[in-house]
Amino acid sequence: MPTTLDSVHDVLATECRNVRNAWPTQHISTVAGAARRAADLITTGHLSHEEVRAALVDAAAQHVADPQCGCSQQVIAQAIDAAITGRVQSL
Ligand SMILES: [Zn+2]
Repeated sequence: MPTTLDSVHDVLATECRNVRNAWPTQHISTVAGAARRAADLITTGHLSHEEVRAALVDAAAQHVADPQCGCSQQVIAQAIDAAITGRVQSL
């Protein structure tokens, strides 16, 4: 588990990069996986739910803007919230 601020933001930056690089058919599953891993940073008090959601929604923005991608920002945000909530409640 990351303990320094730098490593916390490294984890979030890595997850955001994964989301940006996700294949078109894997946007939702990638963003959900990223949110589940980032949820560990929420349970440890390093980040808030809102910070993680904002970072991942921002990372997915180029997918949402892509006319060939069917993911709306609402669907992305819901996938993030569901993944974070499920992860936090399972701990
Ligand atoms: Zn998509």
